[in-house]
Amino acid sequence: MLEQLNETLHFTKNWQQQLAEAFVNIEDLCHYLGLSPKVLAVSDAASKDFPLRVPLSFAASMQKGDPNDPLLRQVLPIEDELILYPGFSNDPVGDLPSATQIGVLHKYQGRVLFINTGSCAINCRYCFRRNFPYSDLQLSKQHENAGIHYINEHPDVSEVILSGGDPLLLSDSRLAKLIQELSAIEHLKRIRIHSRLPIVLPARITDEFINTLCNSSKQIVMVIHCNHANELNSRVIEAFKLLQNRNIILFNQSVLLKGVNDNLTVLSELSEQLFSLGIIPYYLHLLDKATGTGHFDVPKAYALQLLEQLQNTLPGYLVPKLVTEQAGGLSKQPVHLL
Ligand SMILES: *Cc1c(COP(=O)(O)O)cnc(C)c1O
Ligand code: SF4
Repeated sequence: MLEQLNETLHFTKNWQQQLAEAFVNIEDLCHYLGLSPKVLAVSDAASKDFPLRVPLSFAASMQKGDPNDPLLRQVLPIEDELILYPGFSNDPVGDLPSATQIGVLHKYQGRVLFINTGSCAINCRYCFRRNFPYSDLQLSKQHENAGIHYINEHPDVSEVILSGGDPLLLSDSRLAKLIQELSAIEHLKRIRIHSRLPIVLPARITDEFINTLCNSSKQIVMVIHCNHANELNSRVIEAFKLLQNRNIILFNQSVLLKGVNDNLTVLSELSEQLFSLGIIPYYLHLLDKATGTGHFDVPKAYALQLLEQLQNTLPGYLVPKLVTEQAGGLSKQPVHLL
């Protein structure tokens, strides 16, 4: 009862406070879920370089007492992370460090990634970001200006993708300034935001934030990062509605993760539930082969089998594109063409 009261109180706080009160300790999270750390094969060594970090809003959607909960599996540091798998490295895509110079990564025609912060509200164990020591850095104002300058000088760029880290961890004032500067670039058509915050810290979707987006003359697209239908709690759904009420178009991308969403039932349920909330499934990514994430890997052949099952079960528009990131590619690569 007391716990419930505390939880209710927590969700009345603003997003910065909720973030400050996120779980950062394995024991605390296990205690909250009524689980023993021993049963879970947790690893302090795994959490040393890439600590546990989980906002309560996300943890609250986990099934209490279930050691195999698919949300828990995404965030809990476990012994499997210490296993070295062949083909896994610290920089599997090979281009992120170079991008941080001015934050702009211009790999695909007409689109640039603009990375202004390496911070996230949650530490997903499958993330490539786990191996970068500077992952909490924010781009300096000077570098941000250099990024804006770059986009200004490239009239072929029609879409800027704010990515990270998580761009929504920037303050409202910093985001407002950034979006204002981007909106002043005539040849830009769209600003796209990739963020997991609507899922893991929905309190971030404030009126002030939405006003910032809507003040832009550019079309705004948001891609949320949801991996499992259990992540879609009432607070998350409320955040979607706030965005949709202001005509912001929402897509979803997921990562295919062993033990989380690597089966037909879970993937179709995710697509169905997203669509019932007005969100279009966009990408299903194969895992980036980053050191410490091998236990999440779904073999390509099995991924293709799942895709085929999805195609045979769902309307075509509910089947996400199964893709992978390849160094030197001109776009994400559809897995069936590899
Ligand atoms: C994923 C990505 C994009 C966006 O690609 P879309 O297929 O348009 O979603 C752009 N630039 C880089 C470097 C990317 O990794
Ligand atoms: S970048 Fe995305 S996957 Fe990686 S830790 Fe942040 S939210 Fe999780």
